[in-house]
Amino acid sequence: MKVIKAEKAGFCFGVKRAVDMALEVASKDKEIYSYGQLIHNDQVTQKLAEKGILLIESIEPITSGDVIVRSHGVGKSFYDACEDKNLNVINCTCPFVEKVHRIVDSYYKKGYGIIIIGDKNHPEVIGINGWCNNSALILNDIDEILQLEDKPYCVVAQTTLKYALWEAITHKLSGMGAMTVFNTICSATSERQEAAMVLAKKVDCMIVIGGYHSSNTRKLYEICKELCENTIHIEKKSDLVMTNMNKCGIIGITAGASTPDWIIDEVYDFLVQQ
Ligand code: SF4
Repeated sequence: MKVIKAEKAGFCFGVKRAVDMALEVASKDKEIYSYGQLIHNDQVTQKLAEKGILLIESIEPITSGDVIVRSHGVGKSFYDACEDKNLNVINCTCPFVEKVHRIVDSYYKKGYGIIIIGDKNHPEVIGINGWCNNSALILNDIDEILQLEDKPYCVVAQTTLKYALWEAITHKLSGMGAMTVFNTICSATSERQEAAMVLAKKVDCMIVIGGYHSSNTRKLYEICKELCENTIHIEKKSDLVMTNMNKCGIIGITAGASTPDWIIDEVYDFLVQQ
């Protein structure tokens, strides 16, 4: 059995930076909270918890200590609420996501309507929407475009959006009025998607490793599944079921941007020993 890792797989710059920052401030003597999962990976969340970083879903009960802002970012009101409570914020938002916040903030203040192309339930999109007073029109499907108001719009993307969807929706929007368009899809995402596509075409089985809640991992899975019917999504080595895999001559491995190297290596090392 031959095992090939995709050329680009695993931690991206923003996720690595967030995890490094959190581990640097981790201390068992001090209260440190993470507002939501720092990154979408349960194994990393568990590792951070062992270092004393506690996951919280609301700052309401917190009266002191440091609060980590997740890599996906948060809306403006979160910073205001922390300031009101005198909480120290450790901002682990990916700088590329912060750039989207700045664009939205600035165009909203200029009177533009904001359109976000992405998943309205994803924390990153919820955070971006929090920079235009939660007024954005959020689209995730070409058929969702409704009537637009008679004003200029600023269009941004969830950083993990599939390029084809971005192209289709912005193309349709361009015929609907004045649009200032910022392609904010992160190259880390497209690089991982392209490397996965190249690999999925030439293997018998594709294994996509990453959190079940990780949007970019799920998209990698969808892309691979289209090209290689025998594609599976796992979080960690123990999720592997080898029954059908033993028949595979070549196995490809890819991993979402929030999957740490140690989890990828564990799966890889296990497979090459089969
Ligand atoms: S995928 Fe891109 S935008 Fe998202 S955290 Fe990674 S580097 Fe940042």
